Amino acid sequence: MELLYPVAPFPKQAQALRAEVRAFLAERTFAQATEGFSAELSRALGERGWLGVTWPRIYGGREWGLLERFVITEELVAAGAPVWAHFIAERQSGPLLLRFGTEEQRRTFLPSIARGECYFAIGMSEPDAGSDLAAVRTRATRVDGGWLLNGRKIWNSFTHLCHGMIALVRTAPPDEKDRHAGLSQMIVELHTTKGVHIKPIINLAGRHHFNETTFEDAFIPDERVVGEIGNGWQQVTSELAHERSGPERFLGVFPLLRKLLVRCEPEAHADLGRLVAHLFVLRRMSASIAGQWQQGATPAIEAALVKDLATIYAKEVADVARLAAPVEVDPESDDPYTRMLAHTVLHAPSFTLAGGTTEVLRGMIARGLGLR
Ligand SMILES: Cc1cc2nc3c(=O)[nH]c(=O)nc-3n(C[C@H](O)[C@H](O)[C@H](O)COP(=O)(O)OP(=O)(O)OC[C@H]3O[C@@H](n4cnc5c(N)ncnc54)[C@H](O)[C@@H]3O)c2cc1C
Repeated sequence: MELLYPVAPFPKQAQALRAEVRAFLAERTFAQATEGFSAELSRALGERGWLGVTWPRIYGGREWGLLERFVITEELVAAGAPVWAHFIAERQSGPLLLRFGTEEQRRTFLPSIARGECYFAIGMSEPDAGSDLAAVRTRATRVDGGWLLNGRKIWNSFTHLCHGMIALVRTAPPDEKDRHAGLSQMIVELHTTKGVHIKPIINLAGRHHFNETTFEDAFIPDERVVGEIGNGWQQVTSELAHERSGPERFLGVFPLLRKLLVRCEPEAHADLGRLVAHLFVLRRMSASIAGQWQQGATPAIEAALVKDLATIYAKEVADVARLAAPVEVDPESDDPYTRMLAHTVLHAPSFTLAGGTTEVLRGMIARGLGLR
């Protein structure tokens, strides 16, 4: 495993782009430290051509490299920008459609994702199938011209604000000899498909982020099947690898870290120095994975390792902040540092769960290293 794969210096174009994105962000202020959903911001980014930049031009992309995308993401997340409207569609649904989708699906969805106008949710987890994703029970039954979906997805981020969901469903009964067989992925068009019910789940921070999405005889036409029927497991694992190692995993706490640097007690300088040094290493690892994708490798194990380290790091920033610059945490405070700290503390428990838990990732890493 080549973890610290050499990263070529960021290309000149990426350096210039960084300055442009920074100038764009300097004109805006953002209220929250970590997550946030703003269709207005996503459209503004789309107008500037900063979404889907790696995609072919015919689908609304710029045919730039992954390091350019990395720079845009890094600047947005480090500034605390509310990127979650377009983020899942741009990070994983779009690339999934590019790789496995039909020409019609690419032409229908990719340009509007790149314009920042079309948002996707992830329909993987179920009440009894989170870490053990192969246990999904939502089933698709063959009918004339398509499939009828029945079942229940849970923890779906922002489904209530999205246009589509890519759902992992069972198209054949479970096979104990091959648990990964019989799964498929389908696009559920959330605004127009009958039999789709979206129920809010309020999170620890009192926000409507999650949803439970129920399907009752929801009809999915054949044109909305992604890739091959029965190939869902291979597709979903490639999608998850893209989800894991981006700078959003450790830079979500960057606005808090910046404020902490000016607020902390002098005794905490050593702790903060350590956090900054770790940030440097994580950034290098994350960028090196983008460089590997760019060169055609599939660094899934490396991505899992970065996600594990990055999310533990993000939690640590909150822990250090509580000791180094203690305040009464109040999410409604007028003081930005207090608000950011409260927000981070309330979201920290989820950092190591979303996108695969620490324990599960460590199992993957151990197997990848041949330790299991
Ligand atoms: C902020 C956030 C956003 C999310 N967004 C989405 C979304 O948009 N769409 C979606 O489909 N899902 C989403 N999820 C769900 C997420 O993918 C699941 O929570 C995660 O995969 C864990 O599944 P679970 O909650 O069912 O926990 P479980 O799988 O029940 O795990 C419970 C505990 O057991 C441990 N465990 C389980 N299996 C093993 C094992 N084999 N070895 C060791 N330990 C094990 C886990 O590490 C965990 O600590 C989101 C979650 C969060 C926190």
